[in-house]
Amino acid sequence: MKKIFLLLFSVVVLSTSVSAQSKVDLIDTTNYYSFHLNYWLNMHHFLWTEAFLNVKADSSIVTVEFPSIDRSKFDSTLNYYKEVLVGKDLRYNDYMSGFKDWITDPNTSFEAIPAEFAEQMDILINFDPVYQKYFWLDHRAEVMAVFNENIDLIRKTENEFVDRITLLTRHYWQFDPPRVRVDLSYFGKSTTRTFGNNPYTTPFPTHVVMNVAGENEVPGNWLELLYHESAHGLILGNSYFVAGTIKDLGEAENLKLPRNLEHVYLFYFTGYIAKELLEKQGVKYPQMYMEREVYTQYYPLLEKYLKSYIKRKSTLSKATRNFLKELNKGQ
Ligand SMILES: [Zn+2]
Repeated sequence: MKKIFLLLFSVVVLSTSVSAQSKVDLIDTTNYYSFHLNYWLNMHHFLWTEAFLNVKADSSIVTVEFPSIDRSKFDSTLNYYKEVLVGKDLRYNDYMSGFKDWITDPNTSFEAIPAEFAEQMDILINFDPVYQKYFWLDHRAEVMAVFNENIDLIRKTENEFVDRITLLTRHYWQFDPPRVRVDLSYFGKSTTRTFGNNPYTTPFPTHVVMNVAGENEVPGNWLELLYHESAHGLILGNSYFVAGTIKDLGEAENLKLPRNLEHVYLFYFTGYIAKELLEKQGVKYPQMYMEREVYTQYYPLLEKYLKSYIKRKSTLSKATRNFLKELNKGQ
């Protein structure tokens, strides 16, 4: 009799904590963004990252000395991630992006877990007390520290950012929902290329996951990456202005196109605008992200040719022709 009572009692406590955590995640909204901190998404990213580093780099981010009962829960949870999920990319795998959408949906109820996620949710609910006890407070504090460092800058610069990026891409900002959802997560997405934590975005509607672990030493970098990620939806398709212009020119003039050139352009546009906006706010920002980290080989030619488009002194088509001609000459 006593045993049954205890069992019932623990079920009630667990479901209360679960439902409370699943609902409260909106932190703040601005004109163009809604910022969320989802407990379960953070737990999921933490486990995936630890599994990924264990398997692909023979390393670990966990330094906690657990008592054995918590250690065994941690080990069994991690084994599931290593065996079932670690090969699935957080952004490009359908199951993983489906899980992210479901777990962050405000209408999600743990009383009706879809069959495809039932196994993973069993594992996560079992791991819930361990995550809360050893990891969550630190993760939440780190996330909030980075968010608090950036929120004023976002409010002061977002209107001009959106005005300028929608002009350059000739594409409207997302209006349904009117704000881009941004989930804040301690860990982001890692790949075997960098083993770093990176933000990532899924489309229709745009949904950004911004990490805080990883490189955050350069003040302004986080804001630039937020702006870049949230503008992915403006350049996506060949029917959109930026990608369409590039493709049109490549076809008509038989010019060889670098892969995903529209994405390279987006790094340049968002970096250029972010740098100007940050400097207007008194933040010294010596280099945009693409000068330091990504597609750096294209940066000098973009400075030479694409800047004139940003300054509205050239058409996109003319700037792109000049860029591609010089690029093709050098190859
Ligand atoms: Zn991107």
